[in-house]
Amino acid sequence: MTKRMDKSTKETFNFQAEVAQVLNIVINSLYTDREIFVRELISNAADALEKFRHLTLTESDLSQKDRELKIDIMVDEKAKTFTITDNGIGMTKDELLENLGSIAHSGSADFLKRMAENLKSDVHLIGQFGVGFYSVFMVAKKVTVQTCSCHTDDPGYEWESTGDNSFTIQTKPDLSVGTKIILHLKDDAVEFAKPFTIRQSIKKFSSFVPIPIFLNGDRVNTIQAVWTRTRGEVKDEEYVEFYKYLSGGFDDPLDWMHFATDAPLSIHSLLYIPTENVEKYGFFKLESGVDLHCKKILIQKGAKDILPPYFRFIKGVVDSEDIPLNISRESMQDSLLLKKINRVLTGRLIKHFDTMSKNEPEKYLKFWKTFGPFIKEGIVSDQEQRDNIAKLLRFQTSKTKEDEMISLDEYVGRMPDNQKEIYFINGEDRSSILSGPYAEVFLDRDIELIFNFDPIDDFVMNHLGKYLDKSFISAESETIKLPEKSKIITDTSETTSSEKIDKKITKQLQTEIKKILGDKIADVRASERLVESPVILINPMSQITGAMQRIIRSVNKENIPTSHYIFEFNPHHHLIQKLSKMIDSHQTMFELVIEQLYDQAALAAGLPVEIKTHIDRIYKIIDKAVAET
Ligand code: ADP
Ligand code: MG
Repeated sequence: MTKRMDKSTKETFNFQAEVAQVLNIVINSLYTDREIFVRELISNAADALEKFRHLTLTESDLSQKDRELKIDIMVDEKAKTFTITDNGIGMTKDELLENLGSIAHSGSADFLKRMAENLKSDVHLIGQFGVGFYSVFMVAKKVTVQTCSCHTDDPGYEWESTGDNSFTIQTKPDLSVGTKIILHLKDDAVEFAKPFTIRQSIKKFSSFVPIPIFLNGDRVNTIQAVWTRTRGEVKDEEYVEFYKYLSGGFDDPLDWMHFATDAPLSIHSLLYIPTENVEKYGFFKLESGVDLHCKKILIQKGAKDILPPYFRFIKGVVDSEDIPLNISRESMQDSLLLKKINRVLTGRLIKHFDTMSKNEPEKYLKFWKTFGPFIKEGIVSDQEQRDNIAKLLRFQTSKTKEDEMISLDEYVGRMPDNQKEIYFINGEDRSSILSGPYAEVFLDRDIELIFNFDPIDDFVMNHLGKYLDKSFISAESETIKLPEKSKIITDTSETTSSEKIDKKITKQLQTEIKKILGDKIADVRASERLVESPVILINPMSQITGAMQRIIRSVNKENIPTSHYIFEFNPHHHLIQKLSKMIDSHQTMFELVIEQLYDQAALAAGLPVEIKTHIDRIYKIIDKAVAET
């Protein structure tokens, strides 16, 4: 810095070369994002006030200790000025020279490099590198800073610059402690002398600044930063009010989680669970609803990386002192710090839900019914948390009552000792599952069967693979290792017979059915599991259930061959027994019925069936039946 003496008491200084470089970029920057200077100035003022507040606690001989701390912004459309005044710590002459003349921060070189590379479009990052103040030159042709430090008995100083290579400093008597910054706006920036424009900017960036902000005399930021207060002190109404402000909606939150940590990271966070899932209509996908703050100053609205994508339904605020102001979207992504915060918050949320399920089961069920799909998404996408998220899953089963749901822990907890696997089946609803062939053997042997009503559920179980060392096995699967039936079968129902067709006939049936179904299937055999149904299709590729195939088909718009399925018939079933007697005598009818039974089994398995052929065949069968009576 070189110094020239004026005739008056005004001294002229050259900016440090790096500052001149920054100014050059700022002055010629693109016109988007110019309003960020409001945030930068408020943030500096708030810092100065916070420092003063801190001093009042530590320094006993501080002057004007008890004055009301505030930020005053005045805009004057006629004079084309924007003026911001704070009664914070102010600056001494040396501090003025140092702070508004050079760049002390080590990151500035990076900033300059980045600015140069990105052709000035990254000017909104300016605050990140400790040069936020210079953003004023995007809108001002001249800037005057009047400041008086609370530390000295100095009269105060006036700093002035037009943003070229130099600035002036002169003494300015009778200033009160604090800083006043006057922007003489460029002709193309007079909008920043309009109260409306500035009010919008303040609301956008600084609504929760913990110090009152006045604009031309009116208080602008009336909302208290709820999240930095102690949990016990905040009333429920205040939480709800703040949620409504944040979400811009009218609904009440279902629940919230308010917590603070100090080490290893400083985090204040208030996260809300809404009542509604707006994604359920399928019109759009939510974006992150969590705003990132640093010491109550907004860094980023809807910060993407602060929570994993499957928690995008959460609304709220995260405040961390460790985050640099104005961190950019790009540097956000690879910020180690954000990753750490993300991990802490994710763990906390999962735990919060788990606790809710234990302490407030009704509320949890509501949560599950509304946001269950997001939780399932978490299992598919978050390997690290998968096992913890699995605790949050809820299911209906063959043993739950209508509307009752259980967790995997409950399922495993009530498994009999000889049951080694967790069984599930996918279907439209309870009654269609219960009337289909797959549930039979489980009902018969009193083994609990999980009901999946969403095709995604099968993917979820597939991703989980195991829970507490027990594998998930689809009831369609060939490889179920069911515990042996303990009681002797004493079947008296009408549809089944305790008599089994003899071995020779079974063999013959097998061969004939194979001839008819050909390469539609991989094999035919007598079933060990069927009780009430005549036939069933078994899936040897248990990794891809029928429901999963349905999804794959709908996405790829192509048919997956089902030729790997095994066709099983129930040798106890009266229909099969009658059929076995028609092999030779009624060949055509036998064929028709077998094909029809195949279609029936395919439908139960959720596999596609050729409708026209299916219906034509039904008519043929009816026709023959009518002819014979
Ligand atoms: P940063 O805020 O990241 O330090 P800035 O360029 O915004 O970078 O500001 C530079 C420095 O100028 C601040 O660190 C502070 O010391 C000083 N400063 C700016 N505005 C004020 C103010 N209103 N009151 C006191 N000091 C200020
Ligand atoms: Mg700053």
